[in-house]
Amino acid sequence: VLILAIESSCDETAASVVLNGRTVLSNVISSQIALHTLYGGVVPEIASRKHMEQINQVIELALQEADVTLDDITAIGVTYGPGLVGALLVGVAEAKAIAFAKHKPLVGVHHIEGHISANYIEHPELKPPFAALVVSGGHTHLVIVKDYGEYEIIGRTRDDAAGEAFDKVARAVGLGYPGGPKVDKLAKEGNPDAIAFPRAHVDGSEYDFSFSGIKSAVLNYINSCEMKGEEINRADLVASFQKAVVDALVSRAMHAVKEYNMDTLAIAGGVASNSALRAALQKECDKTGVKFYSPSPIFCTDNAAMIGAAAYYEYKKGVRHGWDLNAVPNLKLGERI
Ligand code: ATP
Ligand code: MG
Ligand code: FE
Repeated sequence: VLILAIESSCDETAASVVLNGRTVLSNVISSQIALHTLYGGVVPEIASRKHMEQINQVIELALQEADVTLDDITAIGVTYGPGLVGALLVGVAEAKAIAFAKHKPLVGVHHIEGHISANYIEHPELKPPFAALVVSGGHTHLVIVKDYGEYEIIGRTRDDAAGEAFDKVARAVGLGYPGGPKVDKLAKEGNPDAIAFPRAHVDGSEYDFSFSGIKSAVLNYINSCEMKGEEINRADLVASFQKAVVDALVSRAMHAVKEYNMDTLAIAGGVASNSALRAALQKECDKTGVKFYSPSPIFCTDNAAMIGAAAYYEYKKGVRHGWDLNAVPNLKLGERI
């Protein structure tokens, strides 16, 4: 089964050809980061327009690099939610047009299911059930992957997503957009124990997260230093912030693995490329005899290969979408529309 996968939910226009859900024949990503950096974040209208400009050549390149034609493709997979509606629509319309013209089945994919499925690409032995920690720009979920395409969300953030917290703190210390990779890099030069930021406690659920408190504590710290005229050590600041976030993620993920009797933990989403988070989870998993999986950084942030991996398992389940497939900006994980 050869899937042509298309992803356009945010600010990456991406296409990929994936064989049997696990072998990536091509993975083309056209990022708009440079464009949105001017505004300090993603501007939805600009994102849609750029997707329109890029999508045909991105798909063309993906087919070329995989050395296949549209006739060789078994089915078209496309992200239809969640994400920016105008951005999603470009990919959905394109996928429908190709599927219609070439008489191919159309399979709509949930973006976060894609992020989780990125783990299948480089780990052929990974199979459900397993626990997954999803940490991206818009989501922070603890998920039990019961089977392919079957998810139980056991914890989520009450406020900011992990990636959002990284981006906001980066902006506050003048590192620019997107902040995650820049914080990651600068934190390597800092002392993570320099400043004691609060470890968010969330009432009610043992698996829920909260990052707005940590973010506010960082902003307050910066303000009070400025008022006192004290120099801020930015490396220490971001290292301490990163440690607070990583601690919160690791403690809840490991707790879930234990309580749900899972022998495997996988991470997914853009923040899963964070070096401190990967190292901390690897260490805890080694200590407790849990198998730990993470995608290579290129498969952590938005790409279409992960959509191809997810689309394959949906296709095998018999999921097919019609010409009425629409973008669903707030699509829930595990929900099929
Ligand atoms: P979602 O997947 O929730 O719809 P998104 O697609 O915008 O959101 P991703 O592409 O999965 O998000 O991830 C982007 C996020 O990952 C950004 O917030 C970015 O700052 C963060 N990120 C990327 N690399 C790192 C890193 N090394 N450390 C921390 N955060 C990172
Ligand atoms: Mg992005
Ligand atoms: Fe994403």
